Amino acid sequence: MRIQNLAVDGFERVVRAEDPARGFLGFVAVHDTTLGPALGGLRMWPYAQERDALADVLRLAEAMTWKAAAAGLPLGGGKAAVLADARDGGKPARLAAMAEVIEMLGGAYITAEDVGVNAEDLTAMRAHTAHVAGLPRSEGGGGDPSPFTALGVLESMKVCLAEVFGDPAIKGRRFAIQGLGNVGAQLARRLVEAGGSVVGADLRPEKAAAGAKALGIAIVDPDRILYESCDVLAPCALGAVLSEESIPGLKTAIVAGSANNQLARPRDAARLKERGILYAPDFVINAGGLINIAVETEPAGYREEEAVRRVTAIAETLKQILARARETGTTPQRAAIALAEERIGQVRAANHI
Ligand code: NAD
Repeated sequence: MRIQNLAVDGFERVVRAEDPARGFLGFVAVHDTTLGPALGGLRMWPYAQERDALADVLRLAEAMTWKAAAAGLPLGGGKAAVLADARDGGKPARLAAMAEVIEMLGGAYITAEDVGVNAEDLTAMRAHTAHVAGLPRSEGGGGDPSPFTALGVLESMKVCLAEVFGDPAIKGRRFAIQGLGNVGAQLARRLVEAGGSVVGADLRPEKAAAGAKALGIAIVDPDRILYESCDVLAPCALGAVLSEESIPGLKTAIVAGSANNQLARPRDAARLKERGILYAPDFVINAGGLINIAVETEPAGYREEEAVRRVTAIAETLKQILARARETGTTPQRAAIALAEERIGQVRAANHI
């Protein structure tokens, strides 16, 4: 295995690792461990270029630092990627190679699942490294993180409804959900159960059909979902959907969804504010899955009630952020980043870093 340390500004450690005999090429980025070990998913994706993979891990590792800090977790931000197609037969050998790299980092980075890597893959990686989290329940882990992510988004929606309409009730409100995958479908179910009216869309026809049949929600064309007239728009598919192009056409009072990096550019937070749309920062409200994994990494082991309690508390953090944004005239996104920076700054000051 050939290990190279790359010097990247603002990052504690970035590693490029290669083992041609196993068809393995991967990156690990440790952004910041002030609050604790860097936790973030491992992505397996056939990136067109090596620099695309590196850019992806850097961007995502930094976002994990803000997410963990805003959630009040003793964790830092990190991310890893293997450049390969996850459906390729070489997957087990590549995962083993990545696990060896993670072990070599000595606990600075804890891996978890992401695109192309599931809980069973993580279990297999445990043969080579202890620094794995997000294991199945059968292995003593917290299992599927998506119900916890959906719960955090739901509780956050109530806070936003109270902020905008003076009433947190879901009943009688209209919700538009982009993406009916793991998180989107569970969110839709909870909203319907609470008396909300839900419209959804998914690029995969089978997901849209399941949404219509099992959840009884209305389905629209994926091109239209962002522009549905609603009280709350929930992007639960991909990032960068809130942009200079899309924001003028939105017909919602609130945007609150699970997708990572929803703002195409930092400036888009101000664009939403100028249009009078309340944007709930994605990295604050989608931390439920991470919180669930964090409980698993504690000495007491995984406890579901504790995870639910802490995920529900995302609502309190969001209330603080919205109050601060209101008082200072800034955007919720800016207020959330400031809160995360403060938490990291306090620990740095206390430790004289
Ligand atoms: P998923 O892959 O199960 O679901 C995403 C769905 O979106 C898929 O069904 C896909 O077909 C659909 N989709 C993609 N592009 C679309 C488009 N343009 N219009 C309509 N539908 C589209 O993923 P997930 O686990 O449900 O996660 C959803 C989002 O939330 C992702 O951005 C993910 O990074 C983020 N997130 C998930 C978790 C979690 O616990 N699963 C935690 C934090 C953040």
